[in-house]
Amino acid sequence: MEYLQESAGKTDTAAVPAPSIARPRPRRTGRPCSCAEPELTAVILGQPHPAEPAGQMTPASIVHTASCRACGGSYNKPWRRSGAR
Ligand SMILES: [Zn+2]
Repeated sequence: MEYLQESAGKTDTAAVPAPSIARPRPRRTGRPCSCAEPELTAVILGQPHPAEPAGQMTPASIVHTASCRACGGSYNKPWRRSGAR
C-alpha cells in the first residue's frame, strides 16, 4: 500500500526571485552603542539635543534615534532628553 504524501502547502516555488530592494537605512558603523556611560545625542527636528539613558521608552525615544558621541554607534535602548536648562 503506497501512501504518497503530497506536500500540500509546499510546492516547488522555493526559488522565488528575491526583490532587490534598496537597503532602507545605510548604517554608519553597524554597531550599536554598548558604552557603559554613553554620551547620547538625539537629533530632533534637525537639532541635536543632549540625551541620557532612561529606564523606559519615552515618546521621544520611540520617534527619534539617539546616537552615542563616544563610539559613534546608534543607541537602541531607551533614552530621554536630558534637561538642558
Ligand atoms: Zn557608545
